[in-house]
Amino acid sequence: MGKRVRIGDNGRPLADRRTRTLRKTSFPGGIDASDGDVPGHCTRALDPGSHPAPLPFARPDIGEDEIAEVVSCLRSGWLGTGPRCAQFEADFATHLGGDVACISVNSATAGLHLAVEAFGIGPGDEVIVPVHTFTATAEVVRYVGADPVFVDVEPGSLNIDVSKIEAAVTPRTRAIIPVHYAGLACDMAAILKIARRHDLRVIEDAAHALPTTFNGTRIGALGSDATVFSFYVTKTLATGEGGMLVTRNAEVAKRAKVMRLHGINRDVFDRYRTGGNWYYEVIAPGFKYNLTDMAAAIGLHQLRRLNEMHRRRQQIAEAYLARLADLPLRLPLRARAGDLHSWHLFPVRLTEGAGLSRDALVDSLAAAGIGTSVHYMPLHLHPYWRDSCHLAPEGFPVSTAAYEALVSLPIYSKMTDEDVDRVIAACHDALGRETGR
Ligand SMILES: *Cc1c(COP(=O)(O)O)cnc(C)c1O
Repeated sequence: MGKRVRIGDNGRPLADRRTRTLRKTSFPGGIDASDGDVPGHCTRALDPGSHPAPLPFARPDIGEDEIAEVVSCLRSGWLGTGPRCAQFEADFATHLGGDVACISVNSATAGLHLAVEAFGIGPGDEVIVPVHTFTATAEVVRYVGADPVFVDVEPGSLNIDVSKIEAAVTPRTRAIIPVHYAGLACDMAAILKIARRHDLRVIEDAAHALPTTFNGTRIGALGSDATVFSFYVTKTLATGEGGMLVTRNAEVAKRAKVMRLHGINRDVFDRYRTGGNWYYEVIAPGFKYNLTDMAAAIGLHQLRRLNEMHRRRQQIAEAYLARLADLPLRLPLRARAGDLHSWHLFPVRLTEGAGLSRDALVDSLAAAGIGTSVHYMPLHLHPYWRDSCHLAPEGFPVSTAAYEALVSLPIYSKMTDEDVDRVIAACHDALGRETGR
């Protein structure tokens, strides 16, 4: 029924392979549920007949340590939220320099929802979000009955246009949710200043921003009220599904912990640790947003390998920046000197004179067996947001124009030098120039 095609590690659709067991099956990219990276949706499905084997748009980098830890977790008998989640939270706090509460959750969407809820945002309130993002950034505002207010992005970074935030502030505005698009930090100094001036909370959607820094400080350790990371399969640290809510606000941390697990005032691991006391009380209609220890088992080792994985992404980004520079493409900005870009994404934009449409470039790369995606079709072009918030493309000229020219190239630590060469060569072929090598 579903027309989603899953590609095996030899590049053939898995449906063609009757003898494969689940145990042996691998799903390059593992792209299956969110962020628009769904084959046949935003992501261009690969042509399984092409040679050499298709290069997927994204693919998690899972090492033997992650695998062994998941096996240990399974053998331990504690699969749900327990010691590995506690360790992952502690390690994540250490990674950010300590002094923060880290609350593991089963997705960034859950973490954003918990943050918005914990700040008491509700019906009648407004929250400022960039229009050029994944729908989760705005949908959590709806979860609590509030209204997102969309702001266009800056032409260079495609991050929220700081100069347009104040015009969107009204007496009903309660918070701003900036998104560090592709992994390049927003101007957090300016955003925090505006927030202070208008008494607004700042909740960073840091789904792309591990390990990103702003002015030398890691995202998650700045002065905002909360920061939320995603560990979805395509992100820079992947646990399958997962996320982390980070805050320095003790009240918010307490509320989020309770709401993460059914509004129960003690978590299940606490009850277990304190001698199996069965007693608990429900103090609010909470959610089921806790992370599993199986996912945390993966996360523990992904975090240890984060710097190594990031170095590889950086190398790939440098190769693209150097060797695509002579093509009619607008390349993503580097972080400022001394700062880190996470390079979760490498979005390029065709320039006016490219003589090729975005869709033609996507098709040309797909014909060469290269998976791509588009980040994003802006929210104002999606029927739900367009109609429920009465949004028109003219209101968001930068995002609208960017969308028409955008293609995200593959960038992930499992890519070999040959993979990188192949993407660069295919871009040169598509754009009708020499192969720039
Ligand atoms: C991936 C993503 C999310 C959602 O993350 P999940 O962990 O899948 O819930 C939110 N915002 C942005 C910008 C994302 O890319």
